[in-house]
Amino acid sequence: MPRYDFRCRSCGATFELRRAMAQANDPAVCPEGHTDTVKLLSTVAVTGGAAAAASMPSAGGGGGGCCGGGCCR
Ligand SMILES: [Zn+2]
Repeated sequence: MPRYDFRCRSCGATFELRRAMAQANDPAVCPEGHTDTVKLLSTVAVTGGAAAAASMPSAGGGGGGCCGGGCCR
């Protein structure tokens, strides 16, 4: 079951909850009992960012192996 990070806007605490993906956006209650919480982007955001970063060198610079050696100049 995936883990989700939440931050409490009442006391500033961050906490984790394990819940089904279908319940990912359900309201979470802070350990202190506050209900004014927001879900933080965690696992999904990190995975997406890594994939985007990995694809950027080939898309933007023309690859390191070929042009790095000067064969394209
Ligand atoms: Zn709280």
